[in-house]
Amino acid sequence: MNRSPKRVCIVGAGMGGLVAAMLLAAKGLEVVVLEMAERPGGKTRAWPMANGITMQPVFEAIFDAAGASLSAHVVLRRQALLARHHWGDGATLDIVDGRAANADAIGRFAGAAASRGYADFAARAERYFQALEAPFIMAQKPRALALSANAGLARKLGLSALSPLWDGLREHFSDPRLAQVFGRAACYIGASPLLAPATLMMISHIEQMGVWQPRGGIAAVVAAMAEVARGHGAVLRLGAEVVDLRIEAGRARGVVLAGGELLQADAVIGNADAAAIAAGRLGQAAARVVPELPASKRSFSAITWAVAATGLPAQSVFLPDDPTAEFTDLHFRARLPAQPSVQLAAGEAGATAMVPAPARADTRPLGRDAIAACGRAASALMARAGHNLNLEDAVPTTPDLFAQTYPGTGGALYGQAVHGWAASFARPGASTKLPGFYLCGGATHPGAGVAMAAISGRLAAERVLEQRA
Ligand SMILES: Cc1cc2nc3c(=O)[nH]c(=O)nc-3n(C[C@H](O)[C@H](O)[C@H](O)COP(=O)(O)OP(=O)(O)OC[C@H]3O[C@@H](n4cnc5c(N)ncnc54)[C@H](O)[C@@H]3O)c2cc1C
Repeated sequence: MNRSPKRVCIVGAGMGGLVAAMLLAAKGLEVVVLEMAERPGGKTRAWPMANGITMQPVFEAIFDAAGASLSAHVVLRRQALLARHHWGDGATLDIVDGRAANADAIGRFAGAAASRGYADFAARAERYFQALEAPFIMAQKPRALALSANAGLARKLGLSALSPLWDGLREHFSDPRLAQVFGRAACYIGASPLLAPATLMMISHIEQMGVWQPRGGIAAVVAAMAEVARGHGAVLRLGAEVVDLRIEAGRARGVVLAGGELLQADAVIGNADAAAIAAGRLGQAAARVVPELPASKRSFSAITWAVAATGLPAQSVFLPDDPTAEFTDLHFRARLPAQPSVQLAAGEAGATAMVPAPARADTRPLGRDAIAACGRAASALMARAGHNLNLEDAVPTTPDLFAQTYPGTGGALYGQAVHGWAASFARPGASTKLPGFYLCGGATHPGAGVAMAAISGRLAAERVLEQRA
């Protein structure tokens, strides 16, 4: 018999948990969010101020559904220059908001054939997004079989959608530098472009749909979400770690906090990282229904350094000489590359440099020397493009620190790596085999990044409401 949920406990005030809290509280459910950190936001707390959000309509729709308005809470500015790319020989390429302008810039950078290659690539990226938006991204987790049986979808995607992103990019760009630029899409979700599927080209299209800078950074969006949820009566308890689920008659009926306090609920949503739940951080009943994530399947971690810098574009990318060596080191050797790609996000308050790193903090922690050497290599890459930012003097945030903050993940920031076309279907969905227990977050369907994590929160809220219906 379905029990109509009145009270819902949400474990974690990350993007997914906050969205679920807003939507369920707006529907009149009694919502309690338990967050072990002292501030909400989860991984967004580690974001550089200059990172923008994509898929703004997704956020607008969530605020609307919660009876609020995104624009009334947060000032968003559409970013004109998406990223400036630098190579060792002094070459630069700006990717902007606008396909025609990009085609022109690429023509000047690498010739007319490259410009035509970009136009074809951009059209393919758009086709993938349009094909996958409704049946995959916005939908409850579909089965691979069900999607492949959809003849219309298979036709729209074509077989080449299943090939590796890198191979797909080389079909459009004979200049490896351009494959490097658009292969960055995989890095945004902690994957290697050599192994990720070509469907990730759609990230480039998503960026062309707009990247918005929230005034006050992502923290302003998080604060607005918390305010809307609270406005509907949700309670956010910070510094409250959940260590177990309360199980009654085979269903989740509440949570147990670290101090032993028991909170009764009719449904529980876990926004803690799926790998952490599988490792038993929310107790054994929860661990049994979430697949374990072997270290070899983890997405990448990162090292970040905050530095003082002014006058830089919001996003700069410094690319290594060998376009693929970095990913071989990160994935197959689980070590820091000799020359990493560096993403530099800069705002008024300073800049943050970020490089991808292996997520093996639990079994093969990176030594101080390796991290210092990586900082020197990243500084050298930026210096040859004329930016003298000494990372060695800055305190790094390392995979070890991410692993401590998100236990059970080894430092992986984006759940299971999207390596191979089937990996997208391996993420857990909102429902689990434990009645009354639901999941959301960047390690669940539809994937990592704030927009996807927000969608996962909406999908979990929908499942809870279905239980009520
Ligand atoms: C440095 C960095 C840069 C990034 N840049 C971008 C970017 O530019 N664009 C983008 O889209 N994405 C970016 N991301 C990724 C993005 O931040 C994440 O995909 C997204 O925020 C994940 O949200 P989530 O819902 O999975 O929650 P999480 O962020 O994983 O939060 C989960 C919350 O649950 C809490 N929790 C866990 N266990 C418990 C427990 N037992 N009890 C109570 N609370 C618990 C945690 O403390 C945490 O607050 C970046 C991530 C990092 C780290």
